[in-house]
Order: sequence, then structure tokens, then C-alpha cells
Amino acid sequence: MPVISDIRLNLKKNDILRREGFRGYTRIRPEIKNIVLELLESADSAHLLEPTTAYEIYPVTGMDPDKVLLEGDAVVSGSLIPSTFPEAKELAAIVCTIGPGLEKQVTEYSQGGETLRAMLLDGIGSAAVDTLVIEVCHCIANEASSRGLQAGSPVNPGMPGLTITEQGNLLGLARAGDIGVNLTSSGIMVPRKSTSLILALGPKMETWTQADVCARCNLRDTCPYTVLHS
Ligand code: SF4
Repeated sequence: MPVISDIRLNLKKNDILRREGFRGYTRIRPEIKNIVLELLESADSAHLLEPTTAYEIYPVTGMDPDKVLLEGDAVVSGSLIPSTFPEAKELAAIVCTIGPGLEKQVTEYSQGGETLRAMLLDGIGSAAVDTLVIEVCHCIANEASSRGLQAGSPVNPGMPGLTITEQGNLLGLARAGDIGVNLTSSGIMVPRKSTSLILALGPKMETWTQADVCARCNLRDTCPYTVLHS
């Protein structure tokens, strides 16, 4: 099982502010921006961000309209991958986490009544996970290109055609337990700042941007995290 634990995250202020739920970055009060920068520095010096990824690449052995069959008798259920990536030759099951440190600090701020700091640090954690996903997808896509394959855009459990219940399956396929990521009985990932995704690899894979996704989303007019209207 490949594990990547040496990725340096280059967090961009605007990405963080978007994940804080702020819209219209230029209108945000300078005091808020300063606290974000201060928290970012302290997260770095206190090693609150420990980006780690586990993934496994599985050759595709068959595809039905509602599932993908993988080498080793594994299956990914749902119509999303067959309908979006019908030419996929391999699937990469991926789990990314920044570890438990940041969320512990968020809890301490919350319990100490420092709600604003808790919220802002939580947003930094979310932006860190987003950035980690982008970096890891680049790594896997680069490796796949050396074998003549392209990577499609990543898909996550919870998207239409890939139910959230597939998350447990995905954690097993990526062997997420080896990097300390597990699911609670209610289906929550622990550490909380973790995510699971699939990259389809093949000769001609479909890609899209986050703006494309937001433009088609029913929540686009009210969602505080949209990349539209920023
Ligand atoms: S608008 Fe929709 S797709 Fe975009 S960030 Fe919000 S919930 Fe996600």
C-alpha cells in the first residue's frame, strides 16, 4: 500500500477564507485576515498539520451500469464511475488526512470560549485537506501518465451515483486503517479532517473544475463555500 507523508502544503489565503465560509474576500475585515495568518503560523510551528495519504491502485476487470469490478474480487458500487469514466482501466482508492492535531486544538479553542479562533482554525484544516487532495491527485496522475494513462477528476462518496455508504468500502480498499483513519459506527471519518476519493485512470478520462461542479450545484446561490461569486 503506497503511503505519502512528505507533502508540503502551500495553503493560499483565499482558499482558506473560502473554506471559512467568507464570500467576497476583499471585503473581509483586516483583523480577521490577521488572525487567519497568525493561526496558520501557529498551526505550522505546532505541527498541527500532518498530511498523510494512503492509496491503492486496482486494475478494472469489468464494468456494469451500477458497479465496477476490480482485481482481487473488489467492487465499487454505484453508477457514477461507469457512466462518467466508461473507459477507466484502473481505479485509485485514496484516503487523505491531516491527522488529529488540528481538530484537538479547535476543540480546545471552543471549550475555552474562543469561538472565532475555533471556526477559523477549522477552516484552515478544511483548506489543508482540499490542498492535500489536489497534490496527491497530481502525484498519482503523474505516475499514471508514465504508463500512458490519464486521470479523471476525483469523485467522492456522497456524489450522485456513488453513495456515502461506499465510504467504508473505499477506506478498506485504500487500507486507511494503516494511516490511522477509520469510520465510526455512525459513518463519520476519524480523524474528522480526512476525506476519501477515487481517481479513475484510463486512456481518455473526463475532467472538470470546481467552478464547473459549483455551477451545476443546487446550493450554488447560498453555499458559503462556492467558488462562484468570490
Ligand atoms: S456550491 Fe455546491 S459544489 Fe460548490 S462548494 Fe457549495 S456545496 Fe460544494
